[in-house]
Amino acid sequence: MTRPFNRRRFLGASAALPFAAAAARSAFAAAPAAASGGVPAIGYIDTPANVTLLNINEYPSGPTPAAVAIMTQMATNGNRYYMAEVAKFNKELATYHELKPEYVTMYAGSSEVLQFTTMAFTSPTKSLVVADPTFESPWRVAEQVGAKVHKVPLKSDYSYDMKAMVAADPNAGLFYICNPNNPTGTTVKKSDIEWLLANKPAGSVVLVDEAYIHFSDAESVMDLVAKDKDLVISRTFSKIYSMGGLRFGYAAARPDLMKKLHYYGVNILSTTAIQCARVQLNDKQLIPLRKQAMADTRNRTFEWLAKQGYDFSPSQTNHFLLNVKKPGAPVINALAHHSVMIGRTWPAMPNWPRVTVGSPSEMQSFQSAFLEVMKMPDGKMNALAHPYPHLAGEHTC
Ligand code: PLP
Repeated sequence: MTRPFNRRRFLGASAALPFAAAAARSAFAAAPAAASGGVPAIGYIDTPANVTLLNINEYPSGPTPAAVAIMTQMATNGNRYYMAEVAKFNKELATYHELKPEYVTMYAGSSEVLQFTTMAFTSPTKSLVVADPTFESPWRVAEQVGAKVHKVPLKSDYSYDMKAMVAADPNAGLFYICNPNNPTGTTVKKSDIEWLLANKPAGSVVLVDEAYIHFSDAESVMDLVAKDKDLVISRTFSKIYSMGGLRFGYAAARPDLMKKLHYYGVNILSTTAIQCARVQLNDKQLIPLRKQAMADTRNRTFEWLAKQGYDFSPSQTNHFLLNVKKPGAPVINALAHHSVMIGRTWPAMPNWPRVTVGSPSEMQSFQSAFLEVMKMPDGKMNALAHPYPHLAGEHTC
């Protein structure tokens, strides 16, 4: 039976949160892998449930129990738009970042922020400048709009070569900075972004994608939005907040830049996603606990890899590049035959496939499978096709 939405009951549920969140804490802290809040592991509809998914940088468990509870309540009222609630959360998010509400726009994930920003600030005469390797979404959009894409290699220490990026094109329209960078998981210094903002061509804009920032010690540049810099920041709840499928993200920028993104569309958001995001944003323990759990699992994986003699990018996030010392594609296929799916390679580093850091038990599965796969003769490995071709190579995360 559905129960009508009732503001008092809704607020009551929010007020009960600290207790509910605290109850969930010990389970999460003790075993991050089991932190799915009792939600059964259903796997992908198109992937066998026993496959370990370390391929598209998802968080290994779902939203907190308190967030799941409020989503259940919201789902029964899914017929309502609740526009005032949506507007209210926009304001709360802005306040969270010490911004005025008109500096924040919410989207169903951050992909649209990257797409719309690229469409707004690149053109056949205004290029896009990116690092290489990095997350390809902006460069794919730029190619579609007919803009030139300048790919500037990362330095040998994985840092962004800001000087080379600025020198790449005096007619650049947009600079894309992914901090931490996907796929390397390495961070960009705030002082480097400040230098870019001060030295970029006049009229150009800097897009800083902070999708993975909560996992890392990287310093956000959100305060520079309040200072009205030529800056758009993209944030998502798909990563540490485990809402990849639920879809919630936002852009932060000064209003005249934001207006240019709005030209490409603004939509009403899912009320379940909004309430899930609100509960988790207000959960003061979520980020420190998940950041620590991720760091512990990642560091244990790194220790193991180092012992086995493999190099990896010094990531601070939920993914890293792994030097498999041979072309990555056959290794990816062979691991999938051992029921472990890892990410893709980038043309700039073809021997370094990306691995998402999952739960401790998922990383054990990865380690066992990796040892088996690296023992395989190359000829045998190269002859393997990916067992799930409908998923191989399709990922854009
Ligand atoms: N930015 C980066 C760096 C990503 O890796 C991803 C996806 O993995 C996104 C943005 C887009 O994610 P979403 O649309 O789920 O927010």
